[in-house]
Amino acid sequence: MLIGRCAWHPRYRGYPRWNGITSWQGWRVQFTDGICQHCLDRLLREYRERLAVRAAATAGGVRTAA
Ligand SMILES: [Zn+2]
Repeated sequence: MLIGRCAWHPRYRGYPRWNGITSWQGWRVQFTDGICQHCLDRLLREYRERLAVRAAATAGGVRTAA
């Protein structure tokens, strides 16, 4: 039995999130880490913010010769 879980949920929400049973095959319980839509949205938002900050820092700091 394979159980999907969100690897980012504990970090973002403070508790784990189970995405359900991925596979019923086998008798042993195993886990597979993935990401749920909520955490994916947040991850992408943070990523874009970080890129914007870096772009702003680069634009204000290093100047390239024209
Ligand atoms: Zn999540």
